[in-house]
Amino acid sequence: MWTILILVSIAAVSAEPKVFYGEKVFRVFPQDNKDVEVIKSLADNAKLDFWSPDSVDLVQPGKFADFRAESQVAYDIQALLEQSEIPFEILINDLQDTLEKQRDSTTRAVHSYEKYNNLDTINAWSANIAAQYPSLVSRSQLGTSYEGRPIYLLKVGSSGTNKKAVFIDCGFHAREWVSPAFCQWFVKEAVSSYGVDGQFTSLLNNLDFYVLPVLNVDGYVYTWTSNRMWRKTRSANSGSTCIGTDPNRNFNAGWCTVGASSRACDDTYCGSTPESERETKALANFIRANLSSIKAYLTIHSYSQMLLFPYSYTYSLAKDHTELNNVAKGAVDALTSLYRTRYTYGAGGTTIYLAAGGSDDWAYDAGVKFSFTFELRDTGRYGFALPETQIKPTCEETLLAVKYIANYVQNNA
Ligand SMILES: [Zn+2]
Repeated sequence: MWTILILVSIAAVSAEPKVFYGEKVFRVFPQDNKDVEVIKSLADNAKLDFWSPDSVDLVQPGKFADFRAESQVAYDIQALLEQSEIPFEILINDLQDTLEKQRDSTTRAVHSYEKYNNLDTINAWSANIAAQYPSLVSRSQLGTSYEGRPIYLLKVGSSGTNKKAVFIDCGFHAREWVSPAFCQWFVKEAVSSYGVDGQFTSLLNNLDFYVLPVLNVDGYVYTWTSNRMWRKTRSANSGSTCIGTDPNRNFNAGWCTVGASSRACDDTYCGSTPESERETKALANFIRANLSSIKAYLTIHSYSQMLLFPYSYTYSLAKDHTELNNVAKGAVDALTSLYRTRYTYGAGGTTIYLAAGGSDDWAYDAGVKFSFTFELRDTGRYGFALPETQIKPTCEETLLAVKYIANYVQNNA
């Protein structure tokens, strides 16, 4: 009996995180459909992990695609690309090396706004900041994840009745670590600016901000403990040994019609039904219950430096297209003013590609007019392995865009 227990505990301890020695991230530039077919056959034969676009099915001629290849196949892929005369570059030569350099913050603090914090640290931080600023911040539980973890939600704003609200969520896709970093940064800026900065004080007096630091809590934990490159939730799929659903394909907005996969093993798996995931269901339920106050929905992803708005499930223009486009332009101008970071913006379907089941389209169709998806830094130099030293400038510039949108909502919604 004791021997078994000891063996079990050794097995548990030795479950080391996956390592990525020799893995490369390629950027390919398919010129025509023939090139796209070559890339698709590569993806079929070698287990390629698409970073941008989200899936090989979304690769188009004339648009670059980034993917990760395991070390055993990396050289063959390089040879095949050269043979097929498909232009390419190697963005990351050794992913393990790049991931190790990612944690380049010099702070020793357990929690820091300038480093990547694990879920326990983020949860302790959110409890703390609510306790420290009770008149500005309160914490509630939005729901519970598949693996039973609480999903916490912060409400940030001065007390008041009938306030309009802006909903901001982070951590949809587990490996996009800079996203939860932004939600923490936003709350820090809110509490430290209140009564100091006129514009932010006015926003907090007139609006409530719902801030969800990590939606996909199970996936986020998994990226810390097991596989840094995990994207989806961690729910079991019946009839498959593959785990997880893409939470940003799981909403009831053209669900699973385009740019999403019905195969459970795929990274863009849409799930068995809309809102099949506890995490997405909890989020949708909250927004449905607060539709009368929520005027804006901002969902924070990475990477590619884009600000997108509906629609992504169709090329049809949203009925508020012109206004959303103007707000996006203003937000991007504000963002770019700080460090000259270049962003593109527009409707999701035409700006990147069609992808159904996204939370921004769903929120918009539910009645939240100012619905935007942010794709934060960078454009692929580091991709999901963005160094911690870039958290501060990324959050600073993004905050300008978020404040621009919130200010617009305050005056126009
Ligand atoms: Zn994402």
